[in-house]
Amino acid sequence: MTTTHITHWIGGQPWRRAARRHGEVYDPATGRITGRVDFADAAVVDEAVGAALGAFQQWRHTSMARRSTVLFAFRELLSARREKLADIIVSEHGKVHSDALGEIARGLEVVEYACGIPQLIKGGFTEQASTGVDVYSIRQPLGPVAVISPFNFPAMVPMWFFPIAVAAGNTVVVKPSEKDPSAANFLAALWREAGLPDGVFNVVHGDKPAVDRLLEHPDIKAVSFVGSTPVARHVYETGTRHGKRVQALGGAKNHMLVLPDADLDLAADAAVNAGFGAAGERCMAVSVLVAVDPVGDALVARIKERMAALTVGPGSAAGSEMGPLVTGIHRDKVTAYLDAGVTDGAALTVDGRKHPVEGEPGGFWLGPTLFDHVRPGMSVYDDEIFGPVLSVVRAPSFDEGLALINANPYGNGAALFTNDGGAARRFQHEVEVGMVGINVPIPVPVASYSFGGWKSSLFGDSHAYGEDGVKFFTRGKAVTQRWPDPSHGGINLGFPTHQ
Ligand code: NAD
Repeated sequence: MTTTHITHWIGGQPWRRAARRHGEVYDPATGRITGRVDFADAAVVDEAVGAALGAFQQWRHTSMARRSTVLFAFRELLSARREKLADIIVSEHGKVHSDALGEIARGLEVVEYACGIPQLIKGGFTEQASTGVDVYSIRQPLGPVAVISPFNFPAMVPMWFFPIAVAAGNTVVVKPSEKDPSAANFLAALWREAGLPDGVFNVVHGDKPAVDRLLEHPDIKAVSFVGSTPVARHVYETGTRHGKRVQALGGAKNHMLVLPDADLDLAADAAVNAGFGAAGERCMAVSVLVAVDPVGDALVARIKERMAALTVGPGSAAGSEMGPLVTGIHRDKVTAYLDAGVTDGAALTVDGRKHPVEGEPGGFWLGPTLFDHVRPGMSVYDDEIFGPVLSVVRAPSFDEGLALINANPYGNGAALFTNDGGAARRFQHEVEVGMVGINVPIPVPVASYSFGGWKSSLFGDSHAYGEDGVKFFTRGKAVTQRWPDPSHGGINLGFPTHQ
Protein backbone atom coordinates (compact mmCIF):
# COMPACT_ATOMS: atom_id res chain seq x y z
CA MET A 1 0.00 0.00 0.00
CA THR A 2 1.29 3.48 -0.86
CA THR A 3 1.81 6.05 1.85
CA THR A 4 1.58 9.83 1.57
CA HIS A 5 4.66 11.94 2.16
CA ILE A 6 3.79 14.89 4.41
CA THR A 7 6.29 17.70 4.67
CA HIS A 8 6.64 21.24 6.01
CA TRP A 9 5.11 24.33 4.41
CA ILE A 10 7.56 27.21 4.43
CA GLY A 11 7.44 30.50 2.56
CA GLY A 12 4.23 29.61 0.69
CA GLN A 13 5.21 26.18 -0.59
CA PRO A 14 6.00 22.62 0.43
CA TRP A 15 9.54 22.13 1.72
CA ARG A 16 11.74 20.29 -0.76
CA ARG A 17 14.75 19.05 1.17
CA ALA A 18 14.92 15.53 2.60
CA ALA A 19 14.38 15.04 6.32
CA ARG A 20 16.60 13.01 8.60
CA ARG A 21 13.78 11.95 10.94
CA HIS A 22 10.18 10.92 10.23
CA GLY A 23 7.01 9.84 11.98
CA GLU A 24 4.33 7.42 10.90
CA VAL A 25 0.73 8.46 10.39
CA TYR A 26 -2.02 5.88 10.81
CA ASP A 27 -5.60 5.42 9.73
CA PRO A 28 -6.96 4.64 13.20
CA ALA A 29 -9.95 2.78 11.75
CA THR A 30 -7.73 0.17 10.06
CA GLY A 31 -4.50 0.40 12.00
CA ARG A 32 -2.58 0.77 8.75
CA ILE A 33 0.21 3.29 8.14
CA THR A 34 -1.03 5.80 5.57
CA GLY A 35 1.57 8.53 5.74
CA ARG A 36 5.13 9.44 6.58
CA VAL A 37 5.65 12.86 8.06
CA ASP A 38 8.97 14.72 8.02
CA PHE A 39 10.27 15.82 11.41
CA ALA A 40 11.92 19.24 11.50
CA ASP A 41 15.29 19.71 13.10
CA ALA A 42 16.51 23.08 14.37
CA ALA A 43 17.75 24.13 10.92
CA VAL A 44 14.31 23.61 9.34
CA VAL A 45 12.62 25.50 12.17
CA ASP A 46 15.10 28.33 11.61
CA GLU A 47 14.13 28.41 7.91
CA ALA A 48 10.43 28.66 8.83
CA VAL A 49 11.04 31.39 11.39
CA GLY A 50 13.24 33.20 8.85
CA ALA A 51 10.40 33.10 6.31
CA ALA A 52 7.97 34.39 8.95
CA LEU A 53 10.33 37.18 9.95
CA GLY A 54 10.87 38.23 6.35
CA ALA A 55 7.13 38.28 5.66
CA PHE A 56 6.45 40.23 8.85
CA GLN A 57 8.37 43.26 7.53
CA GLN A 58 5.65 43.68 4.88
CA TRP A 59 2.57 42.13 6.46
CA ARG A 60 2.67 44.44 9.48
CA HIS A 61 2.52 47.42 7.11
CA THR A 62 -0.32 45.97 5.02
CA SER A 63 -3.50 47.96 5.52
CA MET A 64 -6.24 46.69 7.76
CA ALA A 65 -8.60 46.76 4.76
CA ARG A 66 -6.32 44.48 2.76
CA ARG A 67 -5.76 42.13 5.67
CA SER A 68 -9.47 41.69 6.31
CA THR A 69 -10.05 41.08 2.59
CA VAL A 70 -7.67 38.11 2.80
CA LEU A 71 -9.41 36.91 5.96
CA PHE A 72 -12.82 37.01 4.26
CA ALA A 73 -11.44 35.08 1.27
CA PHE A 74 -9.96 32.47 3.61
CA ARG A 75 -13.31 32.19 5.39
CA GLU A 76 -15.11 31.54 2.10
CA LEU A 77 -12.62 28.91 0.96
CA LEU A 78 -12.68 27.12 4.30
CA SER A 79 -16.45 27.07 4.31
CA ALA A 80 -16.59 25.76 0.74
CA ARG A 81 -13.94 23.03 1.32
CA ARG A 82 -15.08 21.86 4.73
CA GLU A 83 -16.08 18.40 3.51
CA LYS A 84 -12.60 17.78 2.14
CA LEU A 85 -10.97 18.99 5.34
CA ALA A 86 -13.33 16.81 7.40
CA ASP A 87 -12.27 13.76 5.34
CA ILE A 88 -8.62 14.52 6.12
CA ILE A 89 -9.35 14.83 9.83
CA VAL A 90 -11.32 11.56 9.88
CA SER A 91 -8.58 9.70 8.02
CA GLU A 92 -5.81 10.63 10.48
CA HIS A 93 -7.63 11.29 13.77
CA GLY A 94 -10.46 8.73 13.51
CA LYS A 95 -13.33 10.88 14.79
CA VAL A 96 -16.66 10.59 12.97
CA HIS A 97 -17.30 12.84 9.97
CA SER A 98 -20.05 14.92 11.60
CA ASP A 99 -17.75 15.59 14.54
CA ALA A 100 -14.96 16.69 12.19
CA LEU A 101 -17.40 19.09 10.55
CA GLY A 102 -18.27 20.36 14.03
CA GLU A 103 -14.64 21.18 14.83
CA ILE A 104 -14.30 23.00 11.50
CA ALA A 105 -17.44 25.02 12.26
CA ARG A 106 -15.99 26.10 15.62
CA GLY A 107 -12.73 27.09 13.93
CA LEU A 108 -14.63 29.02 11.27
CA GLU A 109 -16.28 30.97 14.06
CA VAL A 110 -12.87 32.33 15.08
CA VAL A 111 -12.01 33.17 11.46
CA GLU A 112 -15.26 35.14 11.24
CA TYR A 113 -14.45 36.90 14.49
CA ALA A 114 -11.00 37.81 13.13
CA CYS A 115 -12.61 39.25 9.96
CA GLY A 116 -13.71 42.10 12.24
CA ILE A 117 -10.10 43.04 13.02
CA PRO A 118 -10.53 46.75 12.13
CA GLN A 119 -13.11 47.01 14.91
CA LEU A 120 -11.32 44.66 17.33
CA ILE A 121 -7.98 46.44 17.20
CA LYS A 122 -9.26 49.99 17.63
CA GLY A 123 -7.50 52.02 20.28
CA GLY A 124 -8.70 54.94 22.41
CA PHE A 125 -8.32 58.67 21.95
CA THR A 126 -8.43 61.48 24.49
CA GLU A 127 -8.58 64.93 22.98
CA GLN A 128 -7.07 67.82 24.95
CA ALA A 129 -5.65 65.61 27.71
CA SER A 130 -3.52 68.64 28.45
CA THR A 131 -3.72 72.03 26.73
CA GLY A 132 -3.09 71.37 23.04
CA VAL A 133 -2.13 67.79 23.82
CA ASP A 134 -3.96 64.64 22.69
CA VAL A 135 -3.27 61.11 23.96
CA TYR A 136 -4.17 57.95 22.12
CA SER A 137 -3.47 54.25 22.20
CA ILE A 138 -2.70 51.82 19.41
CA ARG A 139 -2.19 48.07 19.34
CA GLN A 140 0.53 46.61 17.14
CA PRO A 141 1.51 43.07 16.12
CA LEU A 142 4.33 41.25 17.90
CA GLY A 143 6.19 39.59 15.00
CA PRO A 144 6.51 35.87 14.18
CA VAL A 145 4.49 33.77 16.63
CA ALA A 146 4.31 29.99 17.14
CA VAL A 147 1.19 27.85 17.46
CA ILE A 148 1.80 24.32 18.82
CA SER A 149 -1.23 22.07 18.78
CA PRO A 150 -2.43 18.65 20.01
CA PHE A 151 -3.77 15.70 18.02
CA ASN A 152 -7.36 15.89 19.13
CA PHE A 153 -8.46 18.95 17.16
CA PRO A 154 -6.07 19.20 14.19
CA ALA A 155 -8.07 22.02 12.56
CA MET A 156 -9.98 23.78 15.33
CA VAL A 157 -7.22 24.27 17.88
CA PRO A 158 -4.76 25.95 15.47
CA MET A 159 -7.73 28.08 14.36
CA TRP A 160 -8.27 29.27 17.93
CA PHE A 161 -5.08 31.27 17.40
CA PHE A 162 -3.83 31.88 13.87
CA PRO A 163 -6.80 33.80 12.41
CA ILE A 164 -6.46 36.51 15.05
CA ALA A 165 -2.65 36.42 14.94
CA VAL A 166 -2.63 36.89 11.15
CA ALA A 167 -5.41 39.49 11.16
CA ALA A 168 -3.53 41.52 13.75
CA GLY A 169 -0.46 41.66 11.47
CA ASN A 170 1.70 38.87 12.91
CA THR A 171 3.22 36.01 10.96
CA VAL A 172 2.84 32.43 12.12
CA VAL A 173 4.69 29.13 12.40
CA VAL A 174 2.30 26.28 13.24
CA LYS A 175 3.67 23.02 14.68
CA PRO A 176 0.75 20.58 14.53
CA SER A 177 0.59 17.20 16.19
CA GLU A 178 2.74 14.64 14.40
CA LYS A 179 -0.14 12.15 14.76
CA ASP A 180 -2.49 13.99 12.34
CA PRO A 181 -0.38 16.54 10.47
CA SER A 182 -2.23 16.91 7.14
CA ALA A 183 -5.00 19.32 8.20
CA ALA A 184 -2.44 22.08 8.84
CA ASN A 185 -1.00 21.72 5.32
CA PHE A 186 -4.51 21.87 3.85
CA LEU A 187 -5.12 25.14 5.75
CA ALA A 188 -1.78 26.53 4.54
CA ALA A 189 -2.76 25.91 0.91
CA LEU A 190 -6.11 27.64 1.52
CA TRP A 191 -4.30 30.70 2.84
CA ARG A 192 -2.19 30.89 -0.30
CA GLU A 193 -5.31 30.64 -2.45
CA ALA A 194 -6.94 33.37 -0.34
CA GLY A 195 -4.11 35.73 -1.26
CA LEU A 196 -2.04 35.66 1.91
CA PRO A 197 1.55 36.65 1.07
CA ASP A 198 4.11 33.85 1.20
CA GLY A 199 5.78 33.42 4.57
CA VAL A 200 2.93 34.83 6.67
CA PHE A 201 1.69 31.30 7.45
CA ASN A 202 4.15 28.43 7.78
CA VAL A 203 3.90 24.87 9.05
CA VAL A 204 6.71 22.78 10.51
CA HIS A 205 6.10 19.17 11.45
CA GLY A 206 7.88 17.25 14.14
CA ASP A 207 8.16 16.50 17.83
CA LYS A 208 10.11 17.78 20.82
CA PRO A 209 13.21 19.08 18.96
CA ALA A 210 11.01 21.24 16.70
CA VAL A 211 8.99 22.55 19.67
CA ASP A 212 12.08 23.26 21.73
CA ARG A 213 13.73 25.21 18.91
CA LEU A 214 10.59 27.36 18.55
CA LEU A 215 10.63 28.01 22.31
CA GLU A 216 14.24 29.14 22.21
CA HIS A 217 14.29 31.00 18.89
CA PRO A 218 14.97 34.71 19.49
CA ASP A 219 12.70 35.80 16.62
CA ILE A 220 9.59 34.00 17.93
CA LYS A 221 7.79 36.59 20.02
CA ALA A 222 4.84 34.60 21.38
CA VAL A 223 3.78 30.98 21.78
CA SER A 224 0.25 29.59 21.90
CA PHE A 225 0.36 25.97 23.01
CA VAL A 226 -2.36 23.39 23.59
CA GLY A 227 -1.62 19.87 24.82
CA SER A 228 -1.12 17.81 27.96
CA THR A 229 -0.31 19.45 31.29
CA PRO A 230 3.33 18.28 31.66
CA VAL A 231 4.20 19.57 28.17
CA ALA A 232 2.20 22.78 28.72
CA ARG A 233 4.23 23.44 31.86
CA HIS A 234 7.49 22.80 29.99
CA VAL A 235 6.41 25.10 27.15
CA TYR A 236 5.38 27.86 29.54
CA GLU A 237 8.55 27.68 31.62
CA THR A 238 10.91 27.42 28.64
CA GLY A 239 9.16 30.02 26.50
CA THR A 240 8.91 32.64 29.25
CA ARG A 241 12.54 32.00 30.23
CA HIS A 242 13.41 32.99 26.67
CA GLY A 243 11.48 36.22 27.01
CA LYS A 244 8.35 35.22 25.12
CA ARG A 245 4.71 35.82 25.78
CA VAL A 246 3.24 32.34 26.36
CA GLN A 247 -0.24 30.89 26.77
CA ALA A 248 -0.09 27.14 27.38
CA LEU A 249 -3.36 25.28 27.69
CA GLY A 250 -3.06 21.90 29.36
CA GLY A 251 -5.06 18.80 30.25
CA ALA A 252 -8.38 18.43 32.01
CA LYS A 253 -10.64 16.33 34.17
CA ASN A 254 -14.07 17.82 33.64
CA HIS A 255 -16.82 17.10 36.12
CA MET A 256 -20.56 17.14 35.59
CA LEU A 257 -22.55 17.57 38.78
CA VAL A 258 -26.11 16.28 38.66
CA LEU A 259 -28.54 17.43 41.36
CA PRO A 260 -31.59 15.37 42.34
CA ASP A 261 -34.00 17.88 40.77
CA ALA A 262 -32.34 17.64 37.31
CA ASP A 263 -34.08 16.24 34.27
CA LEU A 264 -32.41 12.81 34.37
CA ASP A 265 -33.01 12.00 30.71
CA LEU A 266 -31.38 15.27 29.70
CA ALA A 267 -28.47 14.59 32.07
CA ALA A 268 -28.02 11.01 30.80
CA ASP A 269 -28.01 12.16 27.16
CA ALA A 270 -25.50 14.88 28.02
CA ALA A 271 -23.23 12.49 29.93
CA VAL A 272 -23.12 10.04 27.03
CA ASN A 273 -22.62 12.74 24.38
CA ALA A 274 -19.92 14.56 26.33
CA GLY A 275 -18.29 11.44 27.74
CA PHE A 276 -18.00 9.41 24.56
CA GLY A 277 -18.10 11.93 21.70
CA ALA A 278 -14.77 11.80 19.81
CA ALA A 279 -14.08 8.67 21.91
CA GLY A 280 -13.48 10.92 24.92
CA GLU A 281 -10.50 12.55 23.20
CA ARG A 282 -11.69 16.09 23.92
CA CYS A 283 -10.22 18.48 26.43
CA MET A 284 -13.80 19.42 27.32
CA ALA A 285 -15.04 15.82 27.52
CA VAL A 286 -16.95 14.99 30.67
CA SER A 287 -14.85 12.32 32.36
CA VAL A 288 -16.40 12.44 35.85
CA LEU A 289 -20.09 12.47 36.63
CA VAL A 290 -20.88 13.45 40.22
CA ALA A 291 -24.32 12.14 41.12
CA VAL A 292 -25.79 13.79 44.19
CA ASP A 293 -27.81 11.34 46.34
CA PRO A 294 -30.23 9.82 45.63
CA VAL A 295 -30.02 10.09 41.81
CA GLY A 296 -27.00 7.79 41.27
CA ASP A 297 -28.79 4.49 40.55
CA ALA A 298 -31.45 6.02 38.29
CA LEU A 299 -28.86 7.99 36.36
CA VAL A 300 -26.45 5.08 35.92
CA ALA A 301 -29.32 2.92 34.61
CA ARG A 302 -30.21 5.55 32.00
CA ILE A 303 -26.57 5.99 30.95
CA LYS A 304 -26.04 2.23 30.57
CA GLU A 305 -29.10 1.94 28.37
CA ARG A 306 -27.84 4.69 26.06
CA MET A 307 -24.29 3.32 25.94
CA ALA A 308 -25.50 -0.08 24.79
CA ALA A 309 -27.12 1.53 21.75
CA LEU A 310 -23.99 3.41 20.57
CA THR A 311 -22.58 2.42 17.18
CA VAL A 312 -18.79 2.19 17.26
CA GLY A 313 -17.18 2.10 13.83
CA PRO A 314 -15.04 3.95 11.29
CA GLY A 315 -15.43 7.72 11.28
CA SER A 316 -16.05 7.60 7.54
CA ALA A 317 -19.10 5.30 7.88
CA ALA A 318 -22.42 7.13 7.92
CA GLY A 319 -23.86 5.22 10.88
CA SER A 320 -20.87 5.49 13.23
CA GLU A 321 -21.37 7.53 16.39
CA MET A 322 -17.97 6.88 17.95
CA GLY A 323 -14.71 6.15 16.12
CA PRO A 324 -11.45 4.50 17.17
CA LEU A 325 -8.74 6.00 19.37
CA VAL A 326 -5.93 7.88 17.69
CA THR A 327 -3.14 5.29 17.95
CA GLY A 328 -2.64 1.74 19.12
CA ILE A 329 -0.35 2.95 21.90
CA HIS A 330 -2.98 5.35 23.17
CA ARG A 331 -5.73 2.70 22.97
CA ASP A 332 -3.57 0.31 25.03
CA LYS A 333 -2.86 3.02 27.59
CA VAL A 334 -6.57 3.78 27.98
CA THR A 335 -7.42 0.05 28.17
CA ALA A 336 -4.89 -0.40 30.99
CA TYR A 337 -7.04 1.95 33.11
CA LEU A 338 -9.90 -0.54 32.94
CA ASP A 339 -7.88 -3.10 34.89
CA ALA A 340 -6.43 -0.43 37.18
CA GLY A 341 -9.94 0.80 38.07
CA VAL A 342 -11.03 -2.72 39.03
CA THR A 343 -7.87 -3.25 41.12
CA ASP A 344 -8.53 0.04 42.91
CA GLY A 345 -12.08 -1.08 43.81
CA ALA A 346 -14.26 0.81 41.32
CA ALA A 347 -17.25 -1.00 39.83
CA LEU A 348 -16.69 -1.71 36.12
CA THR A 349 -20.35 -1.31 35.17
CA VAL A 350 -19.84 -1.29 31.39
CA ASP A 351 -16.64 -2.82 29.93
CA GLY A 352 -15.81 -1.14 26.61
CA ARG A 353 -13.74 -4.13 25.50
CA LYS A 354 -16.98 -6.07 25.06
CA HIS A 355 -18.78 -3.47 22.95
CA PRO A 356 -19.47 -4.56 19.34
CA VAL A 357 -17.37 -2.78 16.72
CA GLU A 358 -18.38 -2.37 13.10
CA GLY A 359 -14.88 -2.01 11.72
CA GLU A 360 -11.69 -3.79 10.71
CA PRO A 361 -10.08 -5.75 13.53
CA GLY A 362 -6.78 -3.89 13.13
CA GLY A 363 -8.38 -0.54 14.07
CA PHE A 364 -7.58 1.11 17.41
CA TRP A 365 -10.95 0.28 18.95
CA LEU A 366 -12.22 0.55 22.48
CA GLY A 367 -15.92 0.81 23.23
CA PRO A 368 -17.50 3.11 25.81
CA THR A 369 -16.72 2.21 29.42
CA LEU A 370 -18.51 3.15 32.64
CA PHE A 371 -17.09 2.95 36.14
CA ASP A 372 -19.35 3.47 39.15
CA HIS A 373 -18.50 4.15 42.80
CA VAL A 374 -15.25 5.87 41.85
CA ARG A 375 -13.34 7.84 44.49
CA PRO A 376 -10.36 10.22 44.52
CA GLY A 377 -7.15 8.25 44.95
CA MET A 378 -8.13 5.76 42.24
CA SER A 379 -6.12 6.26 39.05
CA VAL A 380 -9.31 6.37 36.94
CA TYR A 381 -10.29 9.45 38.96
CA ASP A 382 -6.91 11.10 39.44
CA ASP A 383 -5.49 10.79 35.90
CA GLU A 384 -6.60 12.36 32.66
CA ILE A 385 -7.39 9.18 30.70
CA PHE A 386 -8.38 10.91 27.42
CA GLY A 387 -10.49 8.02 26.18
CA PRO A 388 -14.08 6.73 26.27
CA VAL A 389 -14.12 6.11 30.03
CA LEU A 390 -16.71 7.81 32.23
CA SER A 391 -16.40 7.62 36.02
CA VAL A 392 -19.38 8.10 38.33
CA VAL A 393 -18.72 9.43 41.81
CA ARG A 394 -21.53 9.42 44.35
CA ALA A 395 -21.79 12.57 46.52
CA PRO A 396 -24.08 13.03 49.52
CA SER A 397 -24.80 16.72 48.81
CA PHE A 398 -24.33 19.66 46.44
CA ASP A 399 -21.69 21.09 48.82
CA GLU A 400 -19.64 17.92 48.79
CA GLY A 401 -19.90 17.60 45.02
CA LEU A 402 -18.73 21.17 44.57
CA ALA A 403 -15.88 20.67 47.06
CA LEU A 404 -14.73 17.61 45.09
CA ILE A 405 -14.59 19.61 41.87
CA ASN A 406 -12.71 22.44 43.53
CA ALA A 407 -10.17 20.07 45.07
CA ASN A 408 -9.21 18.72 41.63
CA PRO A 409 -5.89 20.03 40.30
CA TYR A 410 -7.42 20.65 36.86
CA GLY A 411 -9.83 23.50 36.21
CA ASN A 412 -10.84 23.46 32.56
CA GLY A 413 -14.64 23.08 32.47
CA ALA A 414 -17.44 21.93 34.77
CA ALA A 415 -21.16 21.50 34.26
CA LEU A 416 -24.16 21.52 36.55
CA PHE A 417 -27.44 19.84 35.72
CA THR A 418 -30.36 21.16 37.74
CA ASN A 419 -33.67 22.99 37.57
CA ASP A 420 -32.78 25.14 40.58
CA GLY A 421 -31.68 28.63 39.52
CA GLY A 422 -30.29 29.42 42.98
CA ALA A 423 -28.04 26.35 42.93
CA ALA A 424 -26.92 27.22 39.40
CA ARG A 425 -26.04 30.75 40.43
CA ARG A 426 -24.07 29.51 43.42
CA PHE A 427 -22.26 26.96 41.23
CA GLN A 428 -21.12 29.49 38.63
CA HIS A 429 -19.98 31.79 41.44
CA GLU A 430 -18.01 29.26 43.48
CA VAL A 431 -16.71 26.63 41.07
CA GLU A 432 -12.98 26.93 40.36
CA VAL A 433 -12.79 26.34 36.62
CA GLY A 434 -12.47 28.59 33.60
CA MET A 435 -15.59 27.46 31.73
CA VAL A 436 -18.94 26.62 33.27
CA GLY A 437 -21.97 24.91 31.76
CA ILE A 438 -25.43 25.16 33.26
CA ASN A 439 -27.38 22.26 31.73
CA VAL A 440 -24.72 22.39 28.98
CA PRO A 441 -22.13 19.58 29.21
CA ILE A 442 -19.37 20.96 26.94
CA PRO A 443 -19.35 24.70 27.56
CA VAL A 444 -16.88 25.76 24.84
CA PRO A 445 -17.43 29.53 24.60
CA VAL A 446 -18.40 31.09 21.28
CA ALA A 447 -15.67 33.06 19.51
CA SER A 448 -16.63 36.44 20.94
CA TYR A 449 -15.77 35.14 24.43
CA SER A 450 -12.52 33.40 25.32
CA PHE A 451 -11.59 29.76 25.93
CA GLY A 452 -9.40 28.73 28.81
CA GLY A 453 -9.12 26.81 32.03
CA TRP A 454 -7.72 27.52 35.47
CA LYS A 455 -5.12 25.80 37.66
CA SER A 456 -3.22 22.96 35.88
CA SER A 457 -5.36 23.43 32.76
CA LEU A 458 -3.69 26.68 31.69
CA PHE A 459 -0.31 28.32 32.25
CA GLY A 460 -0.17 32.03 31.49
CA ASP A 461 -2.60 34.91 31.80
CA SER A 462 -4.49 34.85 28.51
CA HIS A 463 -7.25 32.58 27.38
CA ALA A 464 -7.61 31.67 23.69
CA TYR A 465 -9.46 33.78 21.09
CA GLY A 466 -12.05 36.49 21.78
CA GLU A 467 -10.85 39.65 23.46
CA ASP A 468 -7.99 37.79 25.17
CA GLY A 469 -6.79 36.57 21.76
CA VAL A 470 -6.64 40.09 20.33
CA LYS A 471 -4.70 41.31 23.37
CA PHE A 472 -2.36 38.31 23.29
CA PHE A 473 -1.35 38.87 19.67
CA THR A 474 -0.84 42.63 19.97
CA ARG A 475 1.07 44.99 22.21
CA GLY A 476 -0.08 48.40 23.31
CA LYS A 477 1.48 51.77 22.61
CA ALA A 478 0.30 55.08 24.04
CA VAL A 479 1.07 58.25 22.07
CA THR A 480 1.07 61.73 23.55
CA GLN A 481 1.07 64.40 20.82
CA ARG A 482 1.21 68.16 20.45
CA TRP A 483 1.18 70.01 17.12
CA PRO A 484 2.48 73.55 17.42
CA ASP A 485 1.73 74.33 13.76
CA PRO A 486 -1.36 73.52 11.69
CA SER A 487 -0.71 70.95 8.97
CA HIS A 488 -2.79 69.87 5.99
CA GLY A 489 -2.77 67.27 3.26
CA GLY A 490 -3.04 69.51 0.19
CA ILE A 491 -5.78 69.54 -2.41
CA ASN A 492 -7.66 66.26 -3.21
CA LEU A 493 -11.27 66.36 -4.39
CA GLY A 494 -11.65 62.53 -4.62
CA PHE A 495 -14.01 60.57 -2.35
CA PRO A 496 -11.86 59.10 0.45
CA THR A 497 -11.12 55.39 -0.08
CA HIS A 498 -9.21 52.80 1.92
CA GLN A 499 -5.49 53.07 1.25
P1 NAD B 1 0.79 16.37 23.87
O1 NAD B 1 1.10 17.22 25.03
O2 NAD B 1 1.37 15.01 23.81
O3 NAD B 1 1.25 17.10 22.51
C1 NAD B 1 0.89 18.43 22.22
C2 NAD B 1 1.94 19.04 21.31
O4 NAD B 1 3.20 19.09 22.02
C3 NAD B 1 2.19 18.25 20.04
O5 NAD B 1 2.37 19.15 18.98
C4 NAD B 1 3.45 17.47 20.35
O6 NAD B 1 4.23 17.22 19.20
C5 NAD B 1 4.19 18.37 21.30
N1 NAD B 1 4.98 17.64 22.32
C6 NAD B 1 4.70 16.41 22.83
N2 NAD B 1 5.63 16.10 23.77
C7 NAD B 1 6.49 17.13 23.84
C8 NAD B 1 7.65 17.38 24.63
N3 NAD B 1 8.09 16.51 25.52
N4 NAD B 1 8.29 18.56 24.45
C9 NAD B 1 7.85 19.45 23.54
N5 NAD B 1 6.76 19.26 22.78
C10 NAD B 1 6.09 18.11 22.92
O7 NAD B 1 -0.80 16.31 23.74
P2 NAD B 1 -1.68 15.42 22.77
O8 NAD B 1 -1.64 14.01 23.23
O9 NAD B 1 -1.38 15.72 21.36
O10 NAD B 1 -3.13 16.04 23.07
C11 NAD B 1 -3.94 15.63 24.15
C12 NAD B 1 -3.78 16.55 25.33
O11 NAD B 1 -4.10 17.88 24.95
C13 NAD B 1 -4.74 16.20 26.46
O12 NAD B 1 -4.05 16.33 27.67
C14 NAD B 1 -5.82 17.26 26.34
O13 NAD B 1 -6.53 17.55 27.53
C15 NAD B 1 -5.02 18.43 25.89
N6 NAD B 1 -5.86 19.44 25.26
C16 NAD B 1 -6.15 20.55 25.97
C17 NAD B 1 -6.98 21.52 25.44
C18 NAD B 1 -7.30 22.75 26.20
O14 NAD B 1 -7.91 23.62 25.63
N7 NAD B 1 -6.93 22.88 27.45
C19 NAD B 1 -7.49 21.34 24.14
C20 NAD B 1 -7.17 20.19 23.43
C21 NAD B 1 -6.34 19.24 24.01
